[in-house]
Amino acid sequence: SLRCGIVGLPNVGKSTLFNAITAQQVDAQNYPFCTIEPNVGTVAVPDPRLKPLSQITKTKTIIPATLELVDIAGLVRGASKGEGLGNQFLSHIREVDAIIHVVRCFEDSNITHVDGDISPKRDIDTIETELMLADLDSLEKRLEKLKKNARADKSLQPNVALCEKLIECLGDGKPARTVVETDEEKEILKSFFLISAKPVLYAVNVSEDDMGEGNQWTKEVEEVAAKEGAKVVTICASVESEIAQLPEEERPEFLESLGLEMSGLDRLIQAGYDLLGLHTYFTAGEKEVHAWTVRKGAKAPEAAGVIHSDFEKGFIRAEVIKYEDMAKFGSEQKVKEAGKLMVEGKEYVVCDGDIMHFRFNV
Ligand code: GDP
Repeated sequence: SLRCGIVGLPNVGKSTLFNAITAQQVDAQNYPFCTIEPNVGTVAVPDPRLKPLSQITKTKTIIPATLELVDIAGLVRGASKGEGLGNQFLSHIREVDAIIHVVRCFEDSNITHVDGDISPKRDIDTIETELMLADLDSLEKRLEKLKKNARADKSLQPNVALCEKLIECLGDGKPARTVVETDEEKEILKSFFLISAKPVLYAVNVSEDDMGEGNQWTKEVEEVAAKEGAKVVTICASVESEIAQLPEEERPEFLESLGLEMSGLDRLIQAGYDLLGLHTYFTAGEKEVHAWTVRKGAKAPEAAGVIHSDFEKGFIRAEVIKYEDMAKFGSEQKVKEAGKLMVEGKEYVVCDGDIMHFRFNV
């Protein structure tokens, strides 16, 4: 399954956030393929549609979609040159599909900042620079090999060209994700396995007082993010860890007392899911309501394959009800009577919130 890696300088609040994540992990029993590793937390993707659906189909069993969040420790200035956990850190970050970058936007004289004072722009720069240096290193090695191979195989010319272009851009401080343009370039870029090509979102860690409005530092991050079209999610890691300690049934009241609708962690999970280019369809019956994760743009057979590969291989058709119709009419029977149950074939592109029933050959 797809993974978001959590990075950031020391003392920005990563461990505090990650502790909140592990405290809120899903019960591995319901997820037989769930990874159990100390630095990976599997969390439920919050979805306000699950509960109403379970009431409609009269089941108590709700299985939400999940997201894997990976704690990537050890990023310090010089990591690309082997400082700190250096290489270990780099191998972990190469394996994730997207990056959540935690940025310190809170002042606390008891908690030192590695570079002395609070300066989100500089911090973002420090981290980006390490990632880009690591990429430059791997691109330079790749370029040598590519040039050699391109002498015999002319079809590799575009690869050589992109490699050279990236080396130049990274040298100018531009991450790979911001420089590829054409589909061909995007396709080649995948084969380079660059860290700075991964999509990024910023989690700004603020003090409890600034959770609502943010502060001067969060504005600084918003400026950086706006330039590259990235999202910013405001959290207070210490409050998140308090929320995570509470029994689940007490959380809504606590959030309400803080004037929040959703915890920062839940907003972060939703944003991460979206960043990965994922959305949700449901299966809903008397036994359970189940949210399944599928790539945006995936067609019905691929979606069926998320449940079981046999569903994809033997796919015949899908019966689809829009969530809004189910909520409006209140039962599958009434949806059918209203003529709102659609029968779709192999070319159907699944939409977020579709309730699907697959017909397949075995
Ligand atoms: P890491 O090095 O990035 O993993 O940072 P930690 O999670 O260990 O946090 C460093 C210190 O900052 C710890 O003492 C935390 O309790 C504290 N801390 C984390 N988040 C916040 C916050 O939102 N506000 C304040 N005041 N302190 C925080």
